[in-house]
Amino acid sequence: MERYYFDHNATTPVSPEVIQTMLGCLAEVYGNASSIHHFGQMAKQRLEMARRQSAALVNCRPQEIVFTSGGTEADNLALFGVVRYSKRPQRHLVATAIEHPAVLNACAQLEREGVEVTYVRVGASGVVDPDDIRRALRPSTVLVSVMHVNNELGTMQPMAEIARVTREAAVYLHCDGVQALGKIPVDVPSLGVDLYSMSGHKIYAPKGLGALFVRKGTRMSSILFGGHHERERRPGTENVPGAVALGCAAEVAAGDLATQVTELAMLRDRLEKGILERIPDAGVNGARRSRTPNTSNIYFDGIDGEALVIALDLRGFAVSTGAACSSGAVEPSHVLTAIGLTAERARASIRFSLGRSNTREQVDALIHAVEDSVRHLRKISPVVHANA
Ligand SMILES: *Cc1c(COP(=O)(O)O)cnc(C)c1O
Repeated sequence: MERYYFDHNATTPVSPEVIQTMLGCLAEVYGNASSIHHFGQMAKQRLEMARRQSAALVNCRPQEIVFTSGGTEADNLALFGVVRYSKRPQRHLVATAIEHPAVLNACAQLEREGVEVTYVRVGASGVVDPDDIRRALRPSTVLVSVMHVNNELGTMQPMAEIARVTREAAVYLHCDGVQALGKIPVDVPSLGVDLYSMSGHKIYAPKGLGALFVRKGTRMSSILFGGHHERERRPGTENVPGAVALGCAAEVAAGDLATQVTELAMLRDRLEKGILERIPDAGVNGARRSRTPNTSNIYFDGIDGEALVIALDLRGFAVSTGAACSSGAVEPSHVLTAIGLTAERARASIRFSLGRSNTREQVDALIHAVEDSVRHLRKISPVVHANA
């Protein structure tokens, strides 16, 4: 059976360019980038080239890139780093209700450590109102954390407007940009953010790689303690082949961004139109306009999302019920409930996320598979008439 992958927001396959570059580095460059001899200098050169490539993807200076073990560590470093640096007796942090667990659970831990956190609500659009951020600020606020693109809905947040609010209040702004990279142009100076998280495996590099943009002059602490690597921001012998893979993926992503944006938007719109035309009692979750071009989150009233994921898997299509991290959990998605869906409708929702390998033929086949599967599930499901 042919298998087709429509779950690129969960992870992406490693691209051939990245595999080749990383393997070459693994095989040839084994020096410790801190060593002063030839072997060390070779490693250092590769590391710094990767830093320039990663910086170019977000248009920052290479010195503003801190390599991490992934998006989760980048988020944790931003939040704990800024909050722990502050010596104020009262520290307050603002995040949105639809952040990734890497931010939300870091916030929960900070709360246990005595930090106050406000979770700003979002409406049905899944887009944050900058005025709500402004209203959440207090004299004790040290950091605001807002994701650029939501992983479940694909909705984009108005970062530049939010940055105007945080600048005015002299509060740092962190942005989890993991789902934006490679899907929309990212320019950290014009976004006005102080910290920006990236992850390798969402842009066709391996898992376990990431980076945090830290604007020059940002005051923060380390969260790990060891050697003097990464300008004292992140100790540990550098993962040179990993950084090289991230740099290569960043360069490829920057190079074919324009084509990807048009191509993916065309396929996503075709998928959405096909599904909505053929299947009654279905609809798109979140704002349709301010979205990344690759994501579509759709509810199918009267069905169980997990059952639909399994039915589609049996036909060779990989899709998701939303956040990969919460799959298998009985709780409905915190994002879908935050934008006002009932628990029932949240459980009846599926996320389709497209990527480089998808074709028009695959999309057409997926539309038919979804149509058949939903019809079948509604026929056998006892809740079908309650909703549909
Ligand atoms: C995947 C993801 C992360 C976590 O990145 P990892 O590299 O898997 O740790 C953080 N934020 C968002 C929005 C994500 O989609």
